[in-house]
Amino acid sequence: MNSPADIAGQPPLAAPATAKKLEKLGIRRRFDLVLHLPLRYEDETHLYPIAQAPYGQAVLVEGEVTQCEVQFRPRRQLVVQIEDKSGKLVLRFIHFYGSTQQQLAKGRRVRALGEVRRGFFGDEMVHPKIREVHEGDPLADSLTPVYPTVNGLTQPVLRRLIHAELKAQPLPETLPDEMRRSLGLMPFADAVQLLHRPGPEYSATQLTDGNLPAWQRLKFDELLAQQLSMRLAYRARRQGSAPVIAGDGSLRAQLLASLPFALTGAQQKVLAEIVSDIALPHPMNRLLQGDVGSGKTVVAALAALAAIEAGFQVALMAPTEILAEQHYVKLAAWLAPLGIEVAWLSGSLRKKARGEMAAKIAGGEARLAVGTHALFQDDVSFARLGLVIVDEQHRFGVGQRLALQEKGAAPHQLMMSATPIPRTLAMSFYADLDVSVIDELPPGRTPIVTKLINAARRDEVVAFVDKACREGNQVYWVCPLIEESETLQLQTAVDTHAVLVEDLPQWGVGLVHGRMKAAEKAEVMGRFIRNELQLLVATTVIEVGVDVPNASLMVIEHAERMGLAQLHQLRGRVGRGAAKSSCVLLFETPLSELAKARLKVIYENTDGFEIARQDLNIRGPGEFLGARQSGLPMLRFADLEADIELLEAARELAPQLLQRWPQYAAAHLTRWLAGREHFLKA
Ligand code: ADP
Ligand code: MG
Repeated sequence: MNSPADIAGQPPLAAPATAKKLEKLGIRRRFDLVLHLPLRYEDETHLYPIAQAPYGQAVLVEGEVTQCEVQFRPRRQLVVQIEDKSGKLVLRFIHFYGSTQQQLAKGRRVRALGEVRRGFFGDEMVHPKIREVHEGDPLADSLTPVYPTVNGLTQPVLRRLIHAELKAQPLPETLPDEMRRSLGLMPFADAVQLLHRPGPEYSATQLTDGNLPAWQRLKFDELLAQQLSMRLAYRARRQGSAPVIAGDGSLRAQLLASLPFALTGAQQKVLAEIVSDIALPHPMNRLLQGDVGSGKTVVAALAALAAIEAGFQVALMAPTEILAEQHYVKLAAWLAPLGIEVAWLSGSLRKKARGEMAAKIAGGEARLAVGTHALFQDDVSFARLGLVIVDEQHRFGVGQRLALQEKGAAPHQLMMSATPIPRTLAMSFYADLDVSVIDELPPGRTPIVTKLINAARRDEVVAFVDKACREGNQVYWVCPLIEESETLQLQTAVDTHAVLVEDLPQWGVGLVHGRMKAAEKAEVMGRFIRNELQLLVATTVIEVGVDVPNASLMVIEHAERMGLAQLHQLRGRVGRGAAKSSCVLLFETPLSELAKARLKVIYENTDGFEIARQDLNIRGPGEFLGARQSGLPMLRFADLEADIELLEAARELAPQLLQRWPQYAAAHLTRWLAGREHFLKA
């Protein structure tokens, strides 16, 4: 029982068609069936007399069919009436087959499981679960598990497969007894047996309560697997090899001398961390966190120079074309005077230009390459890539980051993000990263004043824009994404632009949006940067990284529809120069409670860390991780916020398990993560 035997098991025991459906549920190995746990439970242990069946919960009743007919009004449906000694009940089916009709023919005796509600013609059940029975048939003696499933795979089939698997082989323990007892956890085998086949003493509420010891055991195991894999990834990285990068500091000194400002203490500290990390013969995987406007770009430039000094190439990747371009312009302006060639690569580059850039990168003349993910397409190869810098890393999916890691001989990686990782995520999904934090803003920034204004008062806002322009400042007017529809968003931006051109004829009003060609966008942005345009109407393309110090006012339409991180990022586009800056959040009424809560958070906070924390509370971690598009395996059972104590315990015990009981650790990882580990290393 207590040995970490082979638990990988054989392939699923099912016909190919069923196997395919199981695969959709993530069940590939026989053992995965064991970890496919019920969503909820149905109570078929108790029969209610029809007249006494309570509302608002699933109940089982039994009766004789007294009527069964297809009605056509208000739409086609099967209406059945059953009756027991206590009363009558209508069963209503909108979707049904001929077989349902036969099963429910007049005179048959059936059990129906469902929720009773008051209908127009008395009590009814809509789409109950039906079973034909004979008088006195025994009831189930324990609750019936209901599993997550896919179309075409019925509960009975799934239940049978799972139960067969539970009986087929012993479920070995993957925690040493000593550790398990000290944690007060129940044995794994008991926990899964209980959840799949609960005893009669358990109620549905007890079984779905996450605090049930059986659930605690599964959650702990899941979190432990995550911690183990993170530790191993960290270890593997620390043992892997990467070029030792130790420059002489000459280029860095030149850039620093040319800047109109000195680095803040926080910038110096993180730069030192990066520089000493890339001087080690192991791949760096470091996250540089710093609030919007904290000055990450110059740190990236200096880190790049450290690598260039040592004869290596550097790639800097940004999530959007506009942002990548801004980096390119800025970095080229900083590095060209030092005699360093910077290449530019994006998806919208013409074939010929792209070929030229790729040649310079392959030949090694371009010491720094800046671009979008086009930098890491197959036709691009670097002569001597030493450092990869990824800006706004959380905007890239895990898949993209993986592709990047596989490119080249595991060079050092620096990821930058203005969205701080909340503590629980840092402890789990990002546990294999090293983190540097810029916890100080450059001096002389005036805090941004945030105003919440009802969209009905738009005229006042336009007057406010005019005033800002008259004072020599520039303004962003942002039209956010509306209901995921890019076309609609575009239309709003185009309309808004037209209206503002009319309202403010005395000022230059520009428009940028995602559908424009890169060259057009660059043209408009260029005019805005040169102050030929005073007002820039933009879709959310300007969300990240755009840097125009003279812009001191930002108006954001439909602020109530936007995510907090996005609002914070947007707001960070102003307040970069010395002028007093403000951000006007226009909202449409009525506001939902959720929208109110979010606007309150952004109104009351300017600290990105605090906003991220509250954001996580409101949204949950899924969106932060960008898991949906990336295929990152999310936690199935544990909840990072609710199960923080289990997470902490798992984090503490993972290294002990690896150290003292390595076979147990290996067995545990196989059980939980077989074949999926690589995602966790990203
Ligand atoms: P972010 O961290 O949001 O990417 P940026 O790197 O774009 O921030 O920097 C924001 C602005 O602050 C830029 O105009 C940059 O030149 C300026 N900046 C960076 N570091 C300093 C500093 N130490 N002192 C003054 N200004 C700085
Ligand atoms: Mg930036």
